[in-house]
Amino acid sequence: MLEIVSAFGAVKSALEIAKTAKDTTDEFKISTAMSEIMDKLTSAQSALLEMQLEHQNLIDENQELRKKLSQEAQFDKYSLKRTSSGGVVWQIKNDIAEYEGIIEHAICPKCRVESRLMPLDYYVTHYQCRYCNVLIPDQDGNQNQPSSSDWNPY
Ligand SMILES: [Zn+2]
Repeated sequence: MLEIVSAFGAVKSALEIAKTAKDTTDEFKISTAMSEIMDKLTSAQSALLEMQLEHQNLIDENQELRKKLSQEAQFDKYSLKRTSSGGVVWQIKNDIAEYEGIIEHAICPKCRVESRLMPLDYYVTHYQCRYCNVLIPDQDGNQNQPSSSDWNPY
């Protein structure tokens, strides 16, 4: 923001110098005015380049934040569930699974912390993540989960 003020100030000064020197015939005054105008325009150019760099940084940051928001939004489809053995998984909400026509499944809580959506494989006594290999006990079993390790809801 300061760059805009600086650039406008430099251009305004350059214009005032040009107006003052416009009608003079004195070569020395014209040369001095030209030098001052070039200095002011160089200052304005530097300020605008800084502003352009800052603008690009803001665009990059905005893209990164939008990406993070989008990644976080995919986790809204899940709710925290405690397994019968006291472990914790993120279970897809029933209405979401039904509405989107995807199989019920749980995702890895460890990977979720790192913004990675990893469906857990379900075995009779536990869940397991293929990415980080975390094991989450579920001794009583879960009738809603497929027992095959090859399923992928996506
Ligand atoms: Zn994991």
